[in-house]
Amino acid sequence: METKYGFTKMSLAEFAMWLSGLRVSRTVVQIQHHHTYNPSYILFNKSNHFERQKAMRDYHINSNGWADIGQHFTIFPDGSIVTGRNMEKSSACIYGQNSKAVCIENFGNFDVGKDVMTTEQKQCIIEVTALLCSKFNIPVSTDYIVYHHWFDLSTGARNNGTKNNKSCPGTNFFGGNKVLNCQQNFLPLVTEKIRGSIKTDASKVLKYVCVSTETLNVRILPNSSSPKAPEGSTVQLGAILRVYQEKEGWLKISGSNSRWVSAKYTIEATRAIINATTLNIRTGPGAAYPKDGSLSKGQIVFVTEFRDSWCKLAMEERWLSKNFLKF
Ligand SMILES: [Zn+2]
Repeated sequence: METKYGFTKMSLAEFAMWLSGLRVSRTVVQIQHHHTYNPSYILFNKSNHFERQKAMRDYHINSNGWADIGQHFTIFPDGSIVTGRNMEKSSACIYGQNSKAVCIENFGNFDVGKDVMTTEQKQCIIEVTALLCSKFNIPVSTDYIVYHHWFDLSTGARNNGTKNNKSCPGTNFFGGNKVLNCQQNFLPLVTEKIRGSIKTDASKVLKYVCVSTETLNVRILPNSSSPKAPEGSTVQLGAILRVYQEKEGWLKISGSNSRWVSAKYTIEATRAIINATTLNIRTGPGAAYPKDGSLSKGQIVFVTEFRDSWCKLAMEERWLSKNFLKF
């Protein structure tokens, strides 16, 4: 492992070790694949990982006006992985899809006729996806493993690449950027990698909560004078946390470690699965309110408020009809 400019570069083996020890409080239910497009292979000289990563961060901050680099990881042509944004923070990669996602940028331009993906990078992409699926119990399915191409650029609505989309992660990414290409070419490789190795979280999740303050401290014991957790000592506004135990106004948010947050700065969230082919999102609790995007069957949402037969998405002024949700 090597660190520079606040980024860590890892081999696949190092990444597997690092990820197994990583505690992530934020609930991750989606893995996104992107390509960097520009920079493409021609700008990689086998030793400038950190410089390229820093250039992307500079661009995201200075040109896009973001707080940090958009992605959580970049996978390079030589099969190494460089960390980006902290895993406790939402990515900035697909409009409207970031709060529950881990965002992977694959270095290169994988449109037809452009960069030909190296074997090392291919293996790394498959294995990192498999490791993340195991870590976060994410099913190997195009409901959860997604390509940027499947989302409308302006609304973030999933339309599987039918209108107003980027080609990202490339029209030749594992043989194509369509849902069917992913199902036929990419997911079987991921499944093969994790076969028999998925571990389920033994501890039972009592409920979910959404962080309702800018920054919330994570402590070792359920009281405000307890030391903060050594790793990941805070969680951020909008993060969805799993609750394993409740004690006098405190919530235990790890199944395996003693990690607590004050319940005062959270609101209860309910996990639901979209149970309609397409479900409209509306700006208020009723069918008469304007449409503001849509979700498709199998997608997971967290809702924090119920009004008649409508419920509100966590941290957003956007509502869904309860009749098409499975709780
Ligand atoms: Zn993208």
